[in-house]
Amino acid sequence: MKMKGLKIIVFSLAVIGLASFTIAKQSADSANAKDAKHAQTSLCDKKCPRCEGTGRITNPCNFCDNGYRECQLCYGKKEIRCTYCQGGGSFRCNRCAGTGHIGESECPECNAKGQIECNQCHGTGQIACTSCGAEGHVACLTCGGKGYTEWNCPECRGTGVVDDD
Ligand SMILES: [Zn+2]
Ligand SMILES: [Zn+2]
Ligand SMILES: [Zn+2]
Ligand SMILES: [Zn+2]
Ligand SMILES: [Zn+2]
Repeated sequence: MKMKGLKIIVFSLAVIGLASFTIAKQSADSANAKDAKHAQTSLCDKKCPRCEGTGRITNPCNFCDNGYRECQLCYGKKEIRCTYCQGGGSFRCNRCAGTGHIGESECPECNAKGQIECNQCHGTGQIACTSCGAEGHVACLTCGGKGYTEWNCPECRGTGVVDDD
């Protein structure tokens, strides 16, 4: 009797093991069903009027102009305020404390001006925009610089043909 009971337990364990293996295999097989790229065209199908048979809908991108949008750092000006002199174009001369003179003589450091021209912006207070590379615009991220957005036609699900009822 004891041996028989053990045999039944071993057998049922084996069945459980097999069953769970089968379930695991089935769930692995159920992969995402992809859109059928090539739809069967029959005589009752006609060219989709919405996408004119292309299967794709394109719209101009709302966020840019031909794939470019204005640089948000320089607002299209291609230059930004010089970060070195904070846009002032020059610094106070340290040697003469901005007076232009050291005692009775003119300060040789600043040629008696009291200010030293910023060598980053050459006194203009502006430098080339670092964000857009002085282009004034950057590629639009929304459309990837294409200038338009594109998606599968919802009317024909990207097949380009619809049933002619
Ligand atoms: Zn369509
Ligand atoms: Zn810029
Ligand atoms: Zn500067
Ligand atoms: Zn000076
Ligand atoms: Zn865009």
